[in-house]
Amino acid sequence: MKPLHIETPLFESRPLSIQAGRSVWLKLEALQPPGSFKIRGIGHACQEYVQRGAKRLISSSGGNAGIAVAYAGRHLSVPVLIVVPETTSDRAKALIRQEGAEVIVHGDSWQEANELAESAVGESDVLVHPFDDPLVWQGHSTLIDEVAGSDVKPGALVVSVGGGGLLCGLVEGMRRNGWSEVPVIAVETEGADSLAQSTRAGHRVELSAITSLAITLGAKKICQRAFDCTRDHPLHSVVVSDRAAVAACQRFLADHRVVVEPACGASLAAVYDGAPEMDDFESVLIVVCGGATTTLEQLEEWADGNV
Ligand SMILES: *Cc1c(COP(=O)(O)O)cnc(C)c1O
Repeated sequence: MKPLHIETPLFESRPLSIQAGRSVWLKLEALQPPGSFKIRGIGHACQEYVQRGAKRLISSSGGNAGIAVAYAGRHLSVPVLIVVPETTSDRAKALIRQEGAEVIVHGDSWQEANELAESAVGESDVLVHPFDDPLVWQGHSTLIDEVAGSDVKPGALVVSVGGGGLLCGLVEGMRRNGWSEVPVIAVETEGADSLAQSTRAGHRVELSAITSLAITLGAKKICQRAFDCTRDHPLHSVVVSDRAAVAACQRFLADHRVVVEPACGASLAAVYDGAPEMDDFESVLIVVCGGATTTLEQLEEWADGNV
């Protein structure tokens, strides 16, 4: 079956390369039709579930995962229900509804929305997890196949980490393509740094709250497989401030004319601001993971405010 994601542009960024003093490659996942890399993994998982007989797709993500499930459902001709908390922005709800999905607003937090979503799951429905599912990782791994197929092999990969699904998928793809020695520079924002804290502690740490504005990175705990990746793949953890992530989004807009979320800006900030973890590498590839819920106005508000 034809995948639901598209093959995205891969090129060397002149402005980022000059700024970083090394070769900086971009994989532009921001240009996936639903706005982020999420459609790779979620699209693949939804295709599988529908093929196995699922009659309806359910998600409790008001972010890019929910948008990807809605997009997948429309293309697979199955109904989609997305339960989101009251904190979800009007723009996010509009993007989900635009894909034809039903949106139910319930509860003050994601936990409450997720509980309702779980209770709505009928016999032939499937609740799609945003990051902790081997099918999702398998879909994300196709990103590395595309890069390797273009004969590009960077010295290191720069990746944003939320729950760690993208990380798991990329590590899977790197193994398949003989890139096991290529390190991952895993980037989070302060207040959403569950991977950084877990690597320091030597076990998975659950954050008591998410205090970063990069809510897309706001998984309180990374999945077990992502934690395992920090041990069996070379990995450097980097944490940047919200302010740096927002500034990087604005700079990227000026340099490449694409709006991305601070979740993605985190990875861009690590390169724009020359994180020392980059020093050993002649070239890096940034997974420009994208994000559909941020607007230009929102970026300006964050930049003007005291983030
Ligand atoms: C989901 C998402 C992330 C984090 O991905 P995980 O698989 O949860 O680690 C980062 N950036 C964007 C834009 C996302 O949508």
